[in-house]
Amino acid sequence: MTPTILDGRAYAKSARTRMQADGAAWAAQSGMPPSLTVIQVAGDAASDWYVRSIKRACEGVGFGFTHQQLAADIAQAQLDSAIRSACADPAVHGVLVQMPLPKHLSAESAILALDPLKDVDGLHPTNAGRLAQGLSAHVPNTPAGGMALLDHYAIEVAGKHAVVVGRSNVVGKPLAQLLLARNATVTICHSRTTNLAEIVKQGDIVAAAVGRAGLITGAMLKPGAVVLDFGINVVAGSEQVVGDVDWESASAVAGAITPVPGGTGPVTNVMLLGNILQAARWSQGQQE
Ligand code: NAP
Repeated sequence: MTPTILDGRAYAKSARTRMQADGAAWAAQSGMPPSLTVIQVAGDAASDWYVRSIKRACEGVGFGFTHQQLAADIAQAQLDSAIRSACADPAVHGVLVQMPLPKHLSAESAILALDPLKDVDGLHPTNAGRLAQGLSAHVPNTPAGGMALLDHYAIEVAGKHAVVVGRSNVVGKPLAQLLLARNATVTICHSRTTNLAEIVKQGDIVAAAVGRAGLITGAMLKPGAVVLDFGINVVAGSEQVVGDVDWESASAVAGAITPVPGGTGPVTNVMLLGNILQAARWSQGQQE
């Protein structure tokens, strides 16, 4: 079987064009572009790379971008206060706290300092709760991107059995909520799941968000399954990045599949742009 390749790069390119047009229309009406502030505590090299990629994404579509880099030894109270100040600034629509934070800081405290209306990562419990209750919310970017890819390729979700492997607040849990909201029957697997292969085999849609190279193999998949691979795993001793799904065996069985790289990854930053635009709209009135 030759699977449909769910091409995140191509989708992201077309979505960026739409964001640029929507952002320009909003700016023309409100007098300022949608804008993001990233708050980063210094000291994590991978985070520097992510912040640069977010900056490029924002500036590429004409959105405002500011970056506050705080000292590596900053105290929790100062970090939380910087987050609250950024959220209180009417010229800033979205605020993102770059994770991970250094060990002496609490991510939970930082997330609670965010204004849920400006929490464009969708990590605040208010946004997670609203998503769970089917209310409008900022949805975490990575799972939102997975859903956007399914929609872009007109893949039916309602009535399908979706198996989500991974239950983090950033990917697995919100993805399960999004699939449930679209009337999939959802099973969530995690590190204590005892019969992973048996459950994955039942999935019409299988999503892997674990961080273990090749955990899901073709032998575990139902023929024709739609596979979303969120994993980003760097192969030891090289710069090669692979997913949680073993590409060679899985692509021989799947009906549709995201490659790594080039699948779910490129869509994430575009979804962030969508949340910034949404936050800008919400700044002018009620959350619809
Ligand atoms: P995480 O917070 O470490 O969560 C991993 C999840 O996988 C946990 O729920 C864990 O279970 C589960 N797990 C671990 N080993 C397992 C096993 N053997 N079988 C079944 N489940 C297992 O990771 P994350 O932040 O969700 O990220 C997951 C992956 O997605 C990583 O590779 C990350 O780099 C990638 N990612 C990609 C994007 C993107 O843009 N595409 C964005 C964010 C993250 P427990 O809950 O029981 O510990």
